[in-house]
Amino acid sequence: MKICRFIDPETQRPRFGMIEGVEVFALTGDLNEGNLSLEGVEPAIKLAEAKLLPPVAPSKIVCVGRNYREHAAELGNPLPDEPLLFLKAPSAVIGDGDTIELPSVSERVEHEGELAVVIGRRCRRIPKDEDPLSYVLGYACVNDVTARDLQRKDVQFTRAKSFDTFCPVGPYVVTGLDPLDLKVLTRVKGEVRQSGRTSALAFTVPFLLRYISNVMTLEPGDLLATGTPAGVGPLRDGDTVEVEVEGVGTLRNFVRASIG
Ligand code: MG
Repeated sequence: MKICRFIDPETQRPRFGMIEGVEVFALTGDLNEGNLSLEGVEPAIKLAEAKLLPPVAPSKIVCVGRNYREHAAELGNPLPDEPLLFLKAPSAVIGDGDTIELPSVSERVEHEGELAVVIGRRCRRIPKDEDPLSYVLGYACVNDVTARDLQRKDVQFTRAKSFDTFCPVGPYVVTGLDPLDLKVLTRVKGEVRQSGRTSALAFTVPFLLRYISNVMTLEPGDLLATGTPAGVGPLRDGDTVEVEVEGVGTLRNFVRASIG
């Protein structure tokens, strides 16, 4: 099942929907309020006429650094012995087809294609006898866009990871996938730059969910970016960047130099 967010033509307000073929069926409830129902309701609208939004509006975005050995090595870092967590500002989220703006204060903005996990129900200190994956609504592609020079300069990651437009996510949230061995590809101008499989993650999705839930409460709609494979590199004005996750689809964004 493919879950999206779109502008309801009647109320002009965002609501969640389900894409089936060329149509979008509205869903009742709101993921962020924890009461989203996955039973589609009439009336359907044509996908081509729907104004789609980013498929999630997370209260927080939890990211994992250095979760693939070869990527840690390419930046000169060892694999951490427990997950290296950082946060990305929710205001950085954009959707499929939107434009990443390169801030003028950075000379090196890079792509990081990743598998994103979308939380389906509130999750705090997952009990030992519960499957962490039962807290997951679905999966999406995310591009953890990073101002690499500022990340190095600042030491901590907040500014480098959180410029507006630095969190493309989409194209929609897909339910029912097994996250343990999915191919994750990143292309720039059609050329493959990153290629990995989630089977190479140092810390798996279930491990990460349990680990993070012992630090902070994960709310429905929150996003977990699971880390990027090797091959990160620069984004330049005029580029098109795509992140493809097996079973999910392709998230495509344009890159422009900021005028500000
Ligand atoms: Mg990353």
